[in-house]
Amino acid sequence: MVTMERDTEAVHEAYAFVCLHCGHGWEEEYEIRHTTDLAGHRRSDYFTRGVRVPSPLVRADCPSCNRGPIRILRPGRVNSVNTTYLTYLPFYH
Ligand SMILES: [Zn+2]
Repeated sequence: MVTMERDTEAVHEAYAFVCLHCGHGWEEEYEIRHTTDLAGHRRSDYFTRGVRVPSPLVRADCPSCNRGPIRILRPGRVNSVNTTYLTYLPFYH
């Protein structure tokens, strides 16, 4: 088996999302795998719970109202948000 990947580095980051349309808030943790292929190109793949997903930075749909827009709060800012919406975390078990 031939692999084009020579270096993979995985990090975990939690993102919080808030829908500006309906006010729904939620949080998801992503595993981000940074890969450098043999040509030296950098690539980032996002996974949640082992499933590859699009980058949270391009997410535009709200699971509550299917509209949006979505505001993304970067890692580390979750606790600074003064809203009770973020206490609802449907993806956490
Ligand atoms: Zn919404």
